[in-house]
Amino acid sequence: MTTRAYAAQSPTTPLAPHAITRREPTATDVEIDILFCGVCHSDLHFARNEWGFTQYPVVPGHEILGRVARVGSAVTRFKVGDLASVGCLVDSCRICAHCAKGLEQYCMGGATFTYNGDDKYLGGMTFGGYSEKVVVDEAFTLKVPTTLDPAKAAPLLCAGITTWSPLRHWGAGPGKKVGIIGLGGLGHMGVKFARALGAHTVLFTTSRSKIDDGLRLGAHEVVLSTDEAAMARHAGTFDLIVDTVSADHSLDAYMAMLKLDATLCMVGVPPNPQQIAAFSLILPRRNLAGSCIGGIRETQEMLDWCGQHGVACDIELIRMDQINEAYERMLRQDVRYRFVIDMQSLKA
Ligand code: NAP
Ligand code: ZN
Ligand code: ZN
Repeated sequence: MTTRAYAAQSPTTPLAPHAITRREPTATDVEIDILFCGVCHSDLHFARNEWGFTQYPVVPGHEILGRVARVGSAVTRFKVGDLASVGCLVDSCRICAHCAKGLEQYCMGGATFTYNGDDKYLGGMTFGGYSEKVVVDEAFTLKVPTTLDPAKAAPLLCAGITTWSPLRHWGAGPGKKVGIIGLGGLGHMGVKFARALGAHTVLFTTSRSKIDDGLRLGAHEVVLSTDEAAMARHAGTFDLIVDTVSADHSLDAYMAMLKLDATLCMVGVPPNPQQIAAFSLILPRRNLAGSCIGGIRETQEMLDWCGQHGVACDIELIRMDQINEAYERMLRQDVRYRFVIDMQSLKA
């Protein structure tokens, strides 16, 4: 099927209309007409080859939400007309030790990512959600709670699960002091989740203009990370800090905030390696960790929890042809707090 999409053809060309091919649904596939697709900073890193491994053309987009248009003969969990969503993963080996634990993102054979992954069906690379349609195995298709606004639910598929998973893994909850660094797409969901899970929640931001929003979104305290005195007051007090920053920054300043045996978890992926002083880890004994999105089962749990608790993303809806300006605004830290593309605008 020829499908309309938006692609980057090189690190320096703006995203522009581009036709791609989607496979005919197999017996276990779901074909989804995409309604909304969130704009993740990873899309920008990929489009501009900031991590150094992009293959062109790249069609970004891994916060996909739409309506089921067709189902294969063996599909049991979806029917035509249902809402359905797809995050960063479209396949994995399904049998390795990590897949068996529901950690498909860490598949030992290499998970297939939604875009710029190896397309096992058509050859070449997979294409993401900046497009009209996507065809995905139902095992990697998520149910969307009907209680949520679909446009505000779409970014849960990456920004949501990427902050939810480390908060759950490291036990954010009552009696714990949890920090979130950066109030962008991931960070604003980190703040909402940490607060809703019962942790004492502190936002670190470089943007004075986001202080009020940080409090409104659920932070008990907001610290301007450029204020050294304010930073010093929190030294040695955190159980967990989740770092969502997309650009180079000092890790030592945040390591100093951790208690004995507490953890700083990187989820942001600055293009350059970040330096860290060994003493930041040694005195007192502290952990530096990382976390990649979440598995399919955990993503569904997070979506269901969001449906039950009425938690979704704060978004700005844009047209497909505004994507290049949206990237520039993301780089200026001017996103409140996730751009979501209304995919109807691709057909207009
Ligand atoms: P975003 O919306 O652009 O937010 C990033 C935030 O980082 C900004 O809002 C800003 O917060 C802060 N920031 C930006 N530049 C900074 C700088 N020079 N110094 C200090 N802080 C700065 O991005 P996002 O979509 O949330 O993604 C964040 C990062 O996570 C990206 O690198 C992305 O690739 C990565 N990511 C990782 C995973 C994973 O599985 N691990 C999944 C999705 C995304 P303030 O204005 O509040 O300071
Ligand atoms: Zn993402
Ligand atoms: Zn596997």
